[in-house]
Amino acid sequence: MAFKNTELWERAQKVMPGMHSNLRQLGYGFRKPHFIVRGKGAHIWDVEGRDYLDYVMGLGPGILGHGNEEYVEALKKQLDSMCFGASGTYAVPLEVEWAEKFVRHIPCAEKVRLSVTGSEAVQLAIRLARAYTGRRYFIRFEGHYHGWLDNVLGGMVNDNPIAMPFAYESALDTLATEGNDPEAFLQSFKLPWNDIGIVERVLEKYGEQVALIIMEPINCNGGCCMPLPGYLERIRELCSKYGIVLCFDEVITGFRVGLSGAQGLLGVTPDMSTFGKGMAAGMPVSAVTGKKEIMDLLVQNRVVGIGTFNGYPLGVAACLATIDILERDNGAIYEHIGRIQKRLMDGLRDLARKRGLPALVQGPRGAFNLYFMEGDVAHTAREISDGGGTDRIEDWRNMLADEGILLMRGGRWYMCAALTDEDVSRSLECADRAMARL
Ligand code: PMP
Repeated sequence: MAFKNTELWERAQKVMPGMHSNLRQLGYGFRKPHFIVRGKGAHIWDVEGRDYLDYVMGLGPGILGHGNEEYVEALKKQLDSMCFGASGTYAVPLEVEWAEKFVRHIPCAEKVRLSVTGSEAVQLAIRLARAYTGRRYFIRFEGHYHGWLDNVLGGMVNDNPIAMPFAYESALDTLATEGNDPEAFLQSFKLPWNDIGIVERVLEKYGEQVALIIMEPINCNGGCCMPLPGYLERIRELCSKYGIVLCFDEVITGFRVGLSGAQGLLGVTPDMSTFGKGMAAGMPVSAVTGKKEIMDLLVQNRVVGIGTFNGYPLGVAACLATIDILERDNGAIYEHIGRIQKRLMDGLRDLARKRGLPALVQGPRGAFNLYFMEGDVAHTAREISDGGGTDRIEDWRNMLADEGILLMRGGRWYMCAALTDEDVSRSLECADRAMARL
């Protein structure tokens, strides 16, 4: 019996509260449901047999593409020998092998602890930083995302320079939620990103009370914005000066922009870092890593970080297979991704120009955004929304979906190693037709 997308969607609505992640309901969903039954390389197929080029890549993890044979073999081998781990009781040798490789690649990594989702890795990082510094507050930034838990989700930046820089609730906030602890926003200061003066001013006043500064070193969630020259370096200096733990949230950039993450690429080493998504190329695994003296709070049981599925064998096998594949031929995969991505980004710019549409196309290797707005580069999420960059993006994304190209919410393109030149050509043809309708 051949199920159709719409029939499945009708059935789903009776038994599921929407899809399993609300972002799809928050206006980021495709207008037509897609039930996917198979994936191979950069392609996926829905229940009706339609072939799509997949730039969603599972919201980022799919750095190798779907069904990478070597990766699948490694998982099968692990499944054949053992399915269950017991994180508090016994471990598998692969964990050690993987941790050694991880520590070798990631500049800030002296020790690494596994968990399952990015959200919980971030929470452990916050707890570790608070324990290490004995301080309460942390600083986070506008346009950055660190998971769905109360203390990091949403909130608007208070631009009043006299007020304490806590975030405030607003209906304009795209990540506003009911049911949050109303005091959760009082744990952190939320600041505009890429503006060093603001951080300096806030630290002058409150520096001694800040445990942690957490940010995406490249703000992928805010539109693939790069840090301004010197910004990360100065943040690094300020953290050292005030005794603040600096954490780069590399849940997206880790193993996507390169084997040593954004920190390796940009040459700024934080004290801690969180990883997820790409590190296991599709299995749910995350990690907290950092300086030995911080991570050892876990050894001393001064900080509790537990979880039934931490270091589960199938996930560890996925992590190790991912590193093994990415390491090959001096990181040839990244060269390939870089080349393909450049062709795609240049091609999209040219198509827009041909149609008289403004196009801002930016991003590090591994991910990029195209916005129909003026300018060559945007430095913050706010600049993009103020410049109208987000206005047409969901229309565009749905038009591309009609053509058989699936992008991530907000119009992000996630690259994978399996993309071919033929895929890029097809993507550009589809984009040309979609732009004609925009
Ligand atoms: N940090 C960043 C930078 C992310 O992009 C995400 C997920 N989009 C998270 C943390 C949370 O990860 P998860 O969804 O696995 O909880």
